[in-house]
Amino acid sequence: MTYIKTTKDTGIYQITERNIKMSRSKFIFLSLFWGTIMSFIGVIAAIGLLITGHKPKKYGYCYHFEVDKALGGVSLGCVIITGKNASTHTKDHEHGHALQNCIYGPLMLFVIGIPSFIRCQYYNMRYKLGMKNKDYDSIWFEGDATKRGTQFMNAFRAAERNTNDQDR
Ligand SMILES: [Zn+2]
Repeated sequence: MTYIKTTKDTGIYQITERNIKMSRSKFIFLSLFWGTIMSFIGVIAAIGLLITGHKPKKYGYCYHFEVDKALGGVSLGCVIITGKNASTHTKDHEHGHALQNCIYGPLMLFVIGIPSFIRCQYYNMRYKLGMKNKDYDSIWFEGDATKRGTQFMNAFRAAERNTNDQDR
C-alpha cells in the first residue's frame, strides 16, 4: 500500500486505485497466466452459476457470487463464492486468497487450496460435534489471506471513497 501525502502539515493522505500495490491489470494478468489452475476452476464454477441464474457483483478486483447455501466462502482465481449476506471479513479474506493465487500461481491449489478445503471440512465437522476449534487464522495460509485481503480491501475502499469525493 502506498499513500501519497498531499498536504505535509495537515497530514492528509490521498489514496487512489493507482496507489494500491497491485494494479487491476496486473491482478487480472497474474490470475489468468500464472494462477491459471485456480482461475480455470473459477471460470467453470462461474459458468455453472451464471447458467443457474446467479449474477456476480464486483468485489475489489474479483467477481463475487452469492449462493443460497450454508457456505462460508470459496475463492477460485478471480471468482469468490459465498453464502448469502457474507460478512465483510469473509469477503476480504476470500479476496486475500485471490491475491495469494497471484503469488503462488500453479502451487496455489496444492499448497493452499486443497489444505484449506480439508481443514475447513475438519473444522466444520468438529463444530457440529460441539468440539472446540483453534483460531481459524492460526495456520499461516489463512492468517495470510485475512491480512492480505483486509489490507487490500481497506486501501481499495479508501480509493473508491476518494474517487467518489473527487467526482462530486
Ligand atoms: Zn481461507
